[in-house]
Amino acid sequence: MKAHDGMYIDGAWRPAAGRDTIAVVNPADEQVIAEVPAGGAEDVDAAVRAARAALPAWAATAPAERIAALRDVLVARKDEIAGTVTAELGAPLPFSQAVHAGVPVLVAGSYAELAASYAFEEKVGNSTVYAEPVGVVGAITPWNYPLHQIVAKVAPALAAGCTVVLKPAEDTPLTAQLFAEAVHEAGVPAGVFNLVTGLGPVAGQALAEHDGVDLVSFTGSTAVGKQIGATAGAAVKRVALELGGKSANVILPSADLAKAVGVGVANVMGNSGQTCSAWTRMLVHTSQYDEAVALAAEAAAKYGDRIGPLVNAKQRARVRGYIEKGVAEGARLVAGGPEAPREQGYFVSPTVFADVTPEMAIAQEEIFGPVVSLIRYEDEDDALRIANGTVYGLAGAVWAGDDAEAVAFARRMDTGQVDINGGRFNPLAPFGGYKQSGVGRELGSHGLAEYLQTKSLQF
Ligand code: NAD
Repeated sequence: MKAHDGMYIDGAWRPAAGRDTIAVVNPADEQVIAEVPAGGAEDVDAAVRAARAALPAWAATAPAERIAALRDVLVARKDEIAGTVTAELGAPLPFSQAVHAGVPVLVAGSYAELAASYAFEEKVGNSTVYAEPVGVVGAITPWNYPLHQIVAKVAPALAAGCTVVLKPAEDTPLTAQLFAEAVHEAGVPAGVFNLVTGLGPVAGQALAEHDGVDLVSFTGSTAVGKQIGATAGAAVKRVALELGGKSANVILPSADLAKAVGVGVANVMGNSGQTCSAWTRMLVHTSQYDEAVALAAEAAAKYGDRIGPLVNAKQRARVRGYIEKGVAEGARLVAGGPEAPREQGYFVSPTVFADVTPEMAIAQEEIFGPVVSLIRYEDEDDALRIANGTVYGLAGAVWAGDDAEAVAFARRMDTGQVDINGGRFNPLAPFGGYKQSGVGRELGSHGLAEYLQTKSLQF
């Protein structure tokens, strides 16, 4: 697999300061496919300096021109992107083509349009209020949607007039390198976007702590997010956190049960359950519970071999550990289980648990694997109490006979995004968490505003 042996800093691929490397492994066959440099504080410093030096000229450019060319470059390279994501994340190729390569095209396109139409200046009484770039952004991303997570930060940051240093996840650096090539090809000037590959506690931490960074935008686990939030708070630095989730799929009695269960299972199994906003808790009325369990088991069994592996051995061990814990806690396995379905690759079978109670670990903690838990509720208030009964609040779904009934329930949920009766993805809808799922929003104009600060002039 193609890999750069340097960092993309100040418009060119430069050797890393040290000699450490990270092996990139294909999770479907456990083979090493490439090595990339493991950067450290010195590389981060060089990248932040380049970003700082490029900031004044970039902030002075016309917003409409900043990322106008990026979308088309991503379209032209979509096959290479899909192939690379499949190689380092393990996602089946059709999923990589449609989602991992497709969604970033939508998001980059949406920000090119927003940059051209956004009101960076407004009149308020006798004042003129300007939305100005925050400055140098340190972006730290996870591996689960390798390109989407990058584009959801870098596109709005650049559109806002900020410059960026990106530290991508250790497991998926090749997609990040492809993105750096795309930014270069899109004509973004030297120093405006910089890439440092490396380990989280080394390169990531150096970036989060760097004095020259004005805003840290982090997507990843709640544990690391808390640490980054504390570091940023101590430095009075802006921070955006997109963290974990344990979202509820609430099926009200008037809903089309078969559809709600089928879409719900597919939502969890897509990307092998490695989706922060996955509806991992399915809440079903007691009168329909047994039918829902049978439907869910059938849907998971049908998924069978179409599911990709988990990203690495550690993640697989974690997910299998949760499945064992579910059994030990008294939940009933109706599909899948902890056994490895194949000899090679980090695969876990699509797994469905019935008789899950709201306080069980599998109903409270983020598993990040292909595991769905069916929980029984007695009435709507009970469903709401269960839906809101975790520390998370990232996403969710509500199904009902009509949208108005579903909306009434969704408005009572403590969560940032809710799909009504299977609502479609909208790249302009703000995405982010209530409670411990995060601070701030990505996507659309709300995502752009994260990278802007306000100045008012009085006349
Ligand atoms: P992680 O927190 O371990 O890593 C995320 C990123 O942070 C990686 O680039 C990693 O190298 C870096 N990092 C690790 N330790 C660091 C440190 N001490 N200082 C600075 N950077 C550090 O998370 P992960 O295992 O890669 O990703 C899975 C998690 O991400 C899940 O909890 C999932 O819910 C969450 N996630 C959230 C969203 C969202 O939008 N809310 C999206 C995707 C994933």
